Amino acid sequence: MKLAILGPPGSGKGTQSTKLAHRLGIKHISTGDILRTAVKDKTPLGKKAHEFINSGQLVPDELMIGIVKERIAEKDCKNGFILDGFPRTIPQAQMLDKNIALDQVIFFDVSEEECSRRLSSRQICTQCGQIYNPTTRPPLRAGKCDKCKGPLATREDDKPETVKKRLKVYREQTEPVVEFYKQSERLSVMGKSGTPDEIFEYLVNLVESHERGRAAGRA
Ligand code: ATP
Ligand code: MG
Repeated sequence: MKLAILGPPGSGKGTQSTKLAHRLGIKHISTGDILRTAVKDKTPLGKKAHEFINSGQLVPDELMIGIVKERIAEKDCKNGFILDGFPRTIPQAQMLDKNIALDQVIFFDVSEEECSRRLSSRQICTQCGQIYNPTTRPPLRAGKCDKCKGPLATREDDKPETVKKRLKVYREQTEPVVEFYKQSERLSVMGKSGTPDEIFEYLVNLVESHERGRAAGRA
């Protein structure tokens, strides 16, 4: 199964797609995580991407398209994958359409107010990237990752002024991608609110019912 998750920053893409990939036994590919690792390791990609990320802008399409094209061609993606944070622009979506057939695109429809609220208190593990939130997913010990014991920190781009910029960039460059997929029949809208676990169950249902629909279509 080949899926993509769309939604504003802070809509829960990372939290939910990590779990969903696990449940479905397919690979989770987060372009944000790939970039943050590159920045941390000071690779050539990291050096190029750093300024864009920290100022809340998108990393240029030429770079992102090459990275994702290579990544999804790797062996571990054979059984399928979930793209988290890609596509974010129309050229990125067009590249996917030329190269692979996405089965379903899920749009996390969360208001900007709710997203900014969540991002203002989000922390992530600087070692493994696990996401924490004081109300919905607090760490067992303050400042420490439950999984790898790495130190938690606020992401550089989660500062209020950068969040504002990211939301604006989302509205201008990524919302058209939602429209792009609405026109084909691959878009499912996740508009449910609730606890992360409730949202996850709803998400699994969305994927399963879409899959049943496709199977019936094939039969
Ligand atoms: P969240 O993880 O809460 O949903 P987000 O979607 O803004 O927030 P990431 O997906 O982690 O965050 O991405 C962080 C940053 O990495 C983006 O603001 C952007 O600069 C860069 N980035 C990630 N994916 C892409 C992409 N497909 N195209 C261009 N830039 C990207
Ligand atoms: Mg993310």
